[in-house]
Amino acid sequence: MQRVGLIGHPVAHSVSPLFQQAAFDATGLKARYEAWDTLEAGLEQRLASLRGDDILGANVTVPFKEMVQPYLDEIDPVAARIGSVNTIVNHGGRLHGYNTDADGFALGCEDADIDLGLRPAVVVGAGGAARAVVYALTETDPRSVLVLNRTVERAREIAVEFGAGCDSLADAPTSVFQTARLVVNATSVGMRHGPPGMPFDPALLTSGCSVVDLVANPLQTELMIEAERAGCWVQGGLHMLVYQGAAAFELWTELEAPVRLMLETALRATLDQADES
Ligand code: NAP
Repeated sequence: MQRVGLIGHPVAHSVSPLFQQAAFDATGLKARYEAWDTLEAGLEQRLASLRGDDILGANVTVPFKEMVQPYLDEIDPVAARIGSVNTIVNHGGRLHGYNTDADGFALGCEDADIDLGLRPAVVVGAGGAARAVVYALTETDPRSVLVLNRTVERAREIAVEFGAGCDSLADAPTSVFQTARLVVNATSVGMRHGPPGMPFDPALLTSGCSVVDLVANPLQTELMIEAERAGCWVQGGLHMLVYQGAAAFELWTELEAPVRLMLETALRATLDQADES
């Protein structure tokens, strides 16, 4: 039996083990996807264990996407540019790091017919997810991408690296939201067990603007509900989550991922979690 796992902390409520296992089972691979809750003190040992014959690789999530890099033998150029690794592949004892979040974001938008070339574009947040989104947007069209963040220094760092604009979330003029044609929430505001509320006032948005909320759980955030009410096109984070996972599955197995099955499984698991709470 081959194994793959999710390295992070906490990982108990992640739906990745469920939709990845469904994909392994559907393709007839004898592999098990496990939740590998890991504390920082145990990170080096966890990564060393990935070199074993029975390990296909791993996913990496909060808070280790940046920290794992020194332990890897090779880092894919996209992951190096974004500065974070969310997928590790064990190639015969050598560990290769990839980032599939940017592709996951692009494919999730495509599913909702949201054009990544819409401008002006505003990315709210400046953590790891925002870096992947700003990478995807500036690769598509480097013009008029603005990064807003509560801590403006972090927004400035991304802006300088990717050639975008930046401002503090609290001080940005309202016109930034009024004129935006694409807005991405890449903050943790609105996520289950995260900071409640909305990262900005959706009443400022203009009808027809596309809004992507990277929060995958709950399926419908307060921001999504209000943006829809304002006449915006809205996409949540579940599609990105599944597409980044499908890309990881393909890197581990070199097989085509059963994306629809993965989406249905993730959707059902997220709804089940909502029922339980
Ligand atoms: P992160 O690196 O910890 O960054 C968190 C971001 O949220 C920072 O910009 C932080 O601002 C901001 N923030 C936190 N609390 C805030 C508040 N009360 N008001 C305003 N801003 C606040 O996390 P991440 O990995 O980038 O993840 C960000 C979001 O993306 C999360 O909701 C995560 O679930 C989601 N995500 C989704 C996917 C997917 O596949 N759908 C993948 C990755 C991440 P400061 O810099 O000021 O602290």
